[in-house]
Amino acid sequence: MTTQRIAFIGLGNMGGPMAANLVKAGHAVRGFDLSGAARERLAAQGGQAASSIADAVRDADVVITMLPAGEHVLAAYGGPDGILAHAAPHAVLLDSSTVPPDVPRQIAAQARPGTALLDAPVSGGTAGAAAGTLTFMVGGDAALVERMRPLLASMGRAIHHGGPLGAGQTLKLCNNMLLGILMAGTSEALRLGIANGLDPKVVSAVMQQSSGRNWTLEVYNPCPGVMESAPASRGYTGGFATDLMAKDLRLAHAAAAASGVAAPLGDLARRIFEVHRANGHGPLDFSSVFADPVMLEQALAVR
Ligand code: NAD
Repeated sequence: MTTQRIAFIGLGNMGGPMAANLVKAGHAVRGFDLSGAARERLAAQGGQAASSIADAVRDADVVITMLPAGEHVLAAYGGPDGILAHAAPHAVLLDSSTVPPDVPRQIAAQARPGTALLDAPVSGGTAGAAAGTLTFMVGGDAALVERMRPLLASMGRAIHHGGPLGAGQTLKLCNNMLLGILMAGTSEALRLGIANGLDPKVVSAVMQQSSGRNWTLEVYNPCPGVMESAPASRGYTGGFATDLMAKDLRLAHAAAAASGVAAPLGDLARRIFEVHRANGHGPLDFSSVFADPVMLEQALAVR
């Protein structure tokens, strides 16, 4: 693959390791994050730290954003200091953050005609970002997706084109609504076993080999001490924040309401994670919901 100049905006839990994998693949990566520590980490890994978004994107062939939510993405793209004002006309703009499907379409409406733009959110967690095994869910022009496939393959192992701009985000919302339900449900099942005298390692191993098997049991067990590599075993740090899961469940809820789809389990998961946030656990990994049991009445009181 030819070396490309890549601007990477948002070097957090996901963006940091994704940018590092682009460096490893031989690309020239200039990254910007509001956090100085995140910029220094990229520089230590062989990338270049930029002093602003404008400085990062100026000469880039590809601009990738990996920011918390829709408002951060719109702010990074818009305004006199933003990506649209400073990226080269030939640059491909790719947003991997999880945001409302409408956000990429709003950016397209602000961009000069012909701007190459894709929404490309990911799944796989921080371990998948570090290992370069993410799943990309992409929306936008099919030929552009094919052009970007080799670059995305430096960060992921599955690249799915869902349809026009915004389709990647819709795919991501479907997945994360299910993930929220699975994490809340797996936590309940484990707590039920523990309360009745069972060893959580045994409950986990049995469910993993039975019909309750799911991703949280395979790689992200929420009970501390069951799986050394999971955030639960490092104080629920460094994973996928409860704040971000609550955001995704709100987005899924809004999408379900807008399309007239009944999604009562997704809505209950949204309320459970909202209570968990209100209990002060927003910055912790979302699997910490295991350690903060939410009663049905508390969840139903959330609007
Ligand atoms: P994070 O909070 O760890 O990282 C976001 C980074 O963006 C932070 O370092 C922050 O300083 C930076 N930032 C915020 N505003 C900025 C700005 N204006 N300019 C430059 N930098 C800015 O979040 P994360 O876990 O890396 O998640 C990023 C996105 O990926 C979110 O949309 C999330 O929903 C999604 N996601 C996360 C995971 C996960 O497991 N953590 C998995 C899949 C998708």
